[in-house]
Amino acid sequence: MPGSSRMPISLRESFNSVKRRRPALSLQMLNLDLLRNIIFFLFVLRWTRRTIWKLRGRGLIGTVVEAYVTSRRVLYGWFLRAPGVRTQVRKQVGEALGKMETKLVPQASTRYLTLPKEGWAGDAVRAELEQLAAMDHTRWEDGFVSGAVYHGEDGLMRLQTEAFGKFTVANPIHPDVFPGVRKMEAEVVSMVLSLFNAPPGAAGVSTSGGTESILMACLSARQKAYHERGVTEPEMILPETAHTAFHKACQYFKIKMHLVECPAPSHQVDVRRVARLINSNTILLVGSAPNFPHGIMDDIAALSKLAARRRLPLHVDCCLGSFLVPFLERAGFETQPFDFRLRGVTSISCDTHKYGFAPKGNSTVLYRTAELRTYQYFVSPDWAGGVYASPGLAGSRPGALIAGCWASLMSVGESGYLDACVTIVGAAKKLADRIATSPSLAGELEVLGRPLVSVVAFTSRTLPVYDVADGMSERGWHLNALQSPPAIHVAFTLPTAKVWERLAADLEAVVEQVRERERQRAAEGQGAKGAAGGDAAALYGVAGSLPNKSIVVDLATGFLDLLYKA
Ligand SMILES: *Cc1c(COP(=O)(O)O)cnc(C)c1O
Repeated sequence: MPGSSRMPISLRESFNSVKRRRPALSLQMLNLDLLRNIIFFLFVLRWTRRTIWKLRGRGLIGTVVEAYVTSRRVLYGWFLRAPGVRTQVRKQVGEALGKMETKLVPQASTRYLTLPKEGWAGDAVRAELEQLAAMDHTRWEDGFVSGAVYHGEDGLMRLQTEAFGKFTVANPIHPDVFPGVRKMEAEVVSMVLSLFNAPPGAAGVSTSGGTESILMACLSARQKAYHERGVTEPEMILPETAHTAFHKACQYFKIKMHLVECPAPSHQVDVRRVARLINSNTILLVGSAPNFPHGIMDDIAALSKLAARRRLPLHVDCCLGSFLVPFLERAGFETQPFDFRLRGVTSISCDTHKYGFAPKGNSTVLYRTAELRTYQYFVSPDWAGGVYASPGLAGSRPGALIAGCWASLMSVGESGYLDACVTIVGAAKKLADRIATSPSLAGELEVLGRPLVSVVAFTSRTLPVYDVADGMSERGWHLNALQSPPAIHVAFTLPTAKVWERLAADLEAVVEQVRERERQRAAEGQGAKGAAGGDAAALYGVAGSLPNKSIVVDLATGFLDLLYKA
């Protein structure tokens, strides 16, 4: 190593100069030289270590491929910024956003851009609210939307609204003012802990949603590694199918992210590759039960074994699985271990606002020990505004939502969740079966992996799958388009489960239609797999082939801007 061989020589030189020069100056030079050598040595050590980690984690070929992909991205980024190209790209992004705007922001007859001079009468506000609720929309009420609304039946919604009404002004930041909210929040966490077989001493908090639950679990792991092991350059390892909230956590909290492949046919994370990426900076391993894109449960038992052996925390994302996965076994479905009964599982995120049927804005994050929970707390002992402490991201929080959550859990109860699991997972299995056996679907569509819960994802080797998504949209369905590999998924809910047969029939019709179009196109010599130009095909068809996604980033940023266009 150059660092170690240099050191003695320069040391000798320094000693020689000590003999020759004035003592004070020489001593200073010796120190400087030594310092320079130490810094150089540390620098070399650091890069050697990183290179070794990289080669071990990705292998030689993997490292070369990564370097290739990165350079392609950089070069393509330069190309996009070249003078002529840039104006062309801007123009096309502008056009696409214009189209998006006509759909997203319909021209309203009246817009309210400043406060009314005098407040409106209650009835006037009510009438306007009525119109806003009735705006033309994709019909979740009829089960046409994948995910989004998980229960949606009148009785429960009325009860939730009543609960809101009783706690309209409540804020859990003042437990003395709103003791009922404090009690309900603690009870919600306790109920979810018990659902996931938490051991004695386990603890949790409620949050505003799955994203916050995941952010908090990552923060807790980062703080733990910093305080207990002095890790200042944290890294975490997650399946490429894990929710993007983990990517957000890495961005927000400056954690280096390693994505691990989830190869076919199982589409579960490759645990051996996870193991190879572990190093002394690793703060957290992640698995999903199930993941959002394909609805596949990773091999949590294997991840747990690995985590326990390497003494690392393991987070299991049950945001989507929420109140379905704990009931799979009792509902008579196949399941896999995923909860605190696995020794290596240290935290779990569970969304009460998904299959827990609570109103949106509710989730929980659970920890094996209270100590892990403490690592996500924020405590400010010397603030001018007084001693301040809050459990999570938010300061003030809506007590009404907690009341809505508590009311939902109490009113549905174990038997209700068990029934819901039978209905929802049952519908998902029926669709997966239909795709595998229907004469018009079997040869064309292919279910990804073996989904055990509520999501069924499918791709196609023969047809442009985004055209299938667009065909379904034309029939009023809102399914989710996925990328890498191109696919579509349906997340079943109580409303969608009711209409699963219609969904399957429409899917058959759309597949027929796309197949016919492809056949004609081939006959006309235009080649197969041409996109028909619908929204999903336009966005993902193009996005998938780009080495650099800056255009997609521009489009998505423009989309966010549109959300705030009054
Ligand atoms: C929905 C979901 C999340 C994030 O939840 P939000 O409530 O949308 O923030 C995280 N993980 C999975 C698997 C999810 O499906």
